[in-house]
Amino acid sequence: MIRQITNKTVEKYRPQKAEVDHSIPYLYLNEKEVQKDGTVQDVNTIFLTNRECPFKCVMCDLWRHTLDKPTPKGAIPRQIEYALERLPNADVVKLYNSGNFFDGKAIPRYDYEKISDLLSGYDHVIVENHPRLIGSFIPKFRDMLNSSLEIAMGLETIHPKVLPKLNKQITKEDFFEATRFLNQEEIDVRAFILLNPPFLTDPKENIEWCLKSVEFAFDSGCTACSIIPVRDGNGIMEELKKSGDYIPPTLTALETVFERSLQMNNGRVFCDVWDLEKFSDCDVCFEPRKKRLEKMNLSQNVLPGINCDCN
Ligand code: SF4
Ligand SMILES: [Zn+2]
Repeated sequence: MIRQITNKTVEKYRPQKAEVDHSIPYLYLNEKEVQKDGTVQDVNTIFLTNRECPFKCVMCDLWRHTLDKPTPKGAIPRQIEYALERLPNADVVKLYNSGNFFDGKAIPRYDYEKISDLLSGYDHVIVENHPRLIGSFIPKFRDMLNSSLEIAMGLETIHPKVLPKLNKQITKEDFFEATRFLNQEEIDVRAFILLNPPFLTDPKENIEWCLKSVEFAFDSGCTACSIIPVRDGNGIMEELKKSGDYIPPTLTALETVFERSLQMNNGRVFCDVWDLEKFSDCDVCFEPRKKRLEKMNLSQNVLPGINCDCN
């Protein structure tokens, strides 16, 4: 049984990292996403290869595609160039770096100018960051861009006993303050919210705290929330599952929190459908239910539920 979570405990159970190359992004894709003004636009997402995030959250598996050493200068612009040469035109670009864009060892600040030049054809740029990595370097980067800037930050959960155990090293007040600072700088914020974080194992409480966390994110000034059903697969999550400290969410619970968050009418809500089959135990209704969630992501409306003998 794991009694205390530290960086060392998280690392102890990890499987091998993937082999990555700092001259290419580990993934890039084009998708559609609804914007703040309700229009649906093309979004290019580039998953950059860079130095691993120094925070080692219990539920995170993003470290798999990261480097152990600081990212060399020039590598990030090269990766962006590589992806943009292969991606179609789009209105919005997301630079997701499995960590924090404003961590200078992950994305060298020396490269900001080159990065902003490469993104000059986009209307809106989204990066991800940790709520404690806030400072004047953010407005500086915003001023270099030709576009508006949005930052995605993990709030994860506001459960007072669970958030401190995630090793995220934030309080909900840190998230609130960071969002307020960014909003004052005319930077939009989207929040990542977990459904079924480790250490919360009552199915009803999981729904309740996910919704409370979405509400808190909107009250803090976020314009969008992404709900992430927590998966195992990073080593320590399997251990926590064995000891009964983590239970995977059901597809029905995910549908419930997504529907109820959309009904709050406070801003956009997205439901993460990556690896969704992990949460389904019925082959008959899985595909139509996944399609429904994808359509709800785009329309931001609650669509009629899928009937099946299983439910
Ligand atoms: S801050 Fe984000 S990237 Fe870093 S370990 Fe936590 S969840 Fe993963
Ligand atoms: Zn079914």
